[in-house]
Amino acid sequence: MSRFLHPDLQKTTPYTPGIHPPSSADTIKLNTNENPYPPSPMVQKAITSDEIDALAKYPDPSCTELIATIAAYHGVGSENICIGNGSDELLAFCFWGLAPQGTAFPDLTYGFYNIFSQAYNRPAHIVPVREDFSIAIEDYASVTQTIFLANPNAPTGLYLALSQIEALLQQRPDRLIIVDEAYIDFAGESAVSLINTYDNLLVIRTMSKSRSLAGARLGYALGCKDIISDLQRIRFCFNPYSINRLSLLAGTAAIKDEAYFNACREKIIETREYTIQAFRAMGFHVTDCKTNFILCGAHPEISATLYDEKLREQNIFVRYFPVDRILDYVRISIGTQKEMEQVVAVTQKILREMQA
Ligand SMILES: *Cc1c(COP(=O)(O)O)cnc(C)c1O
Repeated sequence: MSRFLHPDLQKTTPYTPGIHPPSSADTIKLNTNENPYPPSPMVQKAITSDEIDALAKYPDPSCTELIATIAAYHGVGSENICIGNGSDELLAFCFWGLAPQGTAFPDLTYGFYNIFSQAYNRPAHIVPVREDFSIAIEDYASVTQTIFLANPNAPTGLYLALSQIEALLQQRPDRLIIVDEAYIDFAGESAVSLINTYDNLLVIRTMSKSRSLAGARLGYALGCKDIISDLQRIRFCFNPYSINRLSLLAGTAAIKDEAYFNACREKIIETREYTIQAFRAMGFHVTDCKTNFILCGAHPEISATLYDEKLREQNIFVRYFPVDRILDYVRISIGTQKEMEQVVAVTQKILREMQA
């Protein structure tokens, strides 16, 4: 560390990404919640050689076409949408510019909330989740800071019903609620339907998980016109060209291909249900995950750290978080049906070895 680094950043512990193993045929990578299926074939069609030549020019800073496509998909106006370089960028904008009173979020949630709160020095009011990892909205009744909630939550996978989000919005109309819906396409009803009723709501989406575009870095925020214009203002105080040309095309094509999107997400949900049943049958505790990952652990015969290590010996990468309350759990992304059947078979073998 040099003597020039800002003290806020000196005190921040940066994000530790999941291991990025060299891709090879016998590696099963289930540690970063990526989609096991490729993006829509329309994405490949959209990236023409003319578009590659056009990389000589800056991209459209207003993201006009992508915004119009997303607006049509959600049935909202273009003035209700702001695009980000991944939803992480939009979340960073919210911590930076939309939390003047500070921030609040659960103790067990997406790790970046804590990192942004430290890096931007937006002190956090941490609200513990309940014993069963659930979020109880009455615990937020007295919270005045901008609230960040992942729904479904990560890494617990638990989904909060839309009626609960609405009750949270009504608790305090002068408090902003940011709902991070990274996994909503695998879960239930979205809060997007509420953006024109509540001017204290911002919904954040990503194309990294359900749209198979983690490598394109695309996220978007939906909210009332005023909050969105604030976000655009923040974006133009940072980098108006943060969304590159090829990603704009990829995102537009992916959103338009609804049939492909629905087929992929249905396969993932089906494989998730298979995986949950199989892990419970093997004696693991698995939360009621509504995501493209499961949180499982608390096995009577194997600790999470040993299980993680034994999987890695077999080239299966899952995520272990050295985080209070889930020290005995691992998070496993949902791969293809074939990959998950392999993980189950390897796990059965590991458990048999433990018993021997
Ligand atoms: C994956 C994830 C993100 C980040 O998504 P990007 O769009 O890839 O930056 C944000 N929030 C949660 C809860 C996530 O799990």
